[in-house]
Amino acid sequence: VIRPTLACLEVPTPSCDGPVNVFVLKGDAIVLIDTGPLTRAGLEMLKRGLARLGAQIKNVDAILLTAPHTDHFGMGALFNDRSNAIVCGHGADRELMEDFPAAHLRRLRAIGTYAQQHGFPDGLYRRVAGMERAALCCGRPLALDVAVRDGQHLEFGNILLRVVHTPGATPGTVCYYEPRLRSLFCGDLVLERPPATAYFNGYAPARKLGPAWYLRSLKHLGAIAARQICPGHSRAAPRVGGLAQRLERRARATQQKIFKVLHQTPQTAYAVANQIAPAARVADRWNSFARTLGVLEQLQQKLKVRTETNANGQLTFALR
Ligand SMILES: [Zn+2]
Repeated sequence: VIRPTLACLEVPTPSCDGPVNVFVLKGDAIVLIDTGPLTRAGLEMLKRGLARLGAQIKNVDAILLTAPHTDHFGMGALFNDRSNAIVCGHGADRELMEDFPAAHLRRLRAIGTYAQQHGFPDGLYRRVAGMERAALCCGRPLALDVAVRDGQHLEFGNILLRVVHTPGATPGTVCYYEPRLRSLFCGDLVLERPPATAYFNGYAPARKLGPAWYLRSLKHLGAIAARQICPGHSRAAPRVGGLAQRLERRARATQQKIFKVLHQTPQTAYAVANQIAPAARVADRWNSFARTLGVLEQLQQKLKVRTETNANGQLTFALR
């Protein structure tokens, strides 16, 4: 079997995550991993990239999505209009793409209510949500043709891709592995700084979200003998295995600091975060709050801490 060729197109995004990588596999078929956001600059970049491979948008046979964020699926609807491409993604995130952007706004509200309960100031959250809402202009609703599942093999001529379900930041985050090239397409999963929502899951406890799932997914990926790691952002190949250990070490260090702070008096997650990891920028404060809240949730599950409601109706954590 002749192996397919692989190209990486770096597509600009308006978000603070920076450019997104769109991977093109060309063999008997043309398969895209993610699409980039729906922007004029993104479209130009994709057209040029495909032209270098002797292809056009109308020739794309399949689009494999890793995440329900506009930088990853935003251009999908345009591909749907201009080609017969089959759209594949995980069913657990179907709503975020099909009921777009309403499902994203509902999610942001649910996270906001939960963060507010834990002391995160309203005005600050409006700015956090504002940054996320800004990204919603770069997409259109997209229907999935195939809802993939873990371990499934997708075959397009000589292009073979195995689905690796990696929930954590969202319940339907997926990676793909090409065994002939031994390339692992890992989307947003292997970022040095995971998205804040990979840290806590109290706003939707029944879903496959939060740090336990996130770490499990990183370990799941680490077990794959890939030769080439293809991340959704940045050119640098990340180390999959080391990241899980670094995150676990960091959580243990946070735990020790939390015990010291709570030793004095019960406090909200936001107050605890401000003491153990104070930050100036809004995005950093959100991240520090998310990480602290995630560890507090885990300590609560282990019955090391309990919550009480304070006079403002917020939840405070206390040592047991
Ligand atoms: Zn991303």
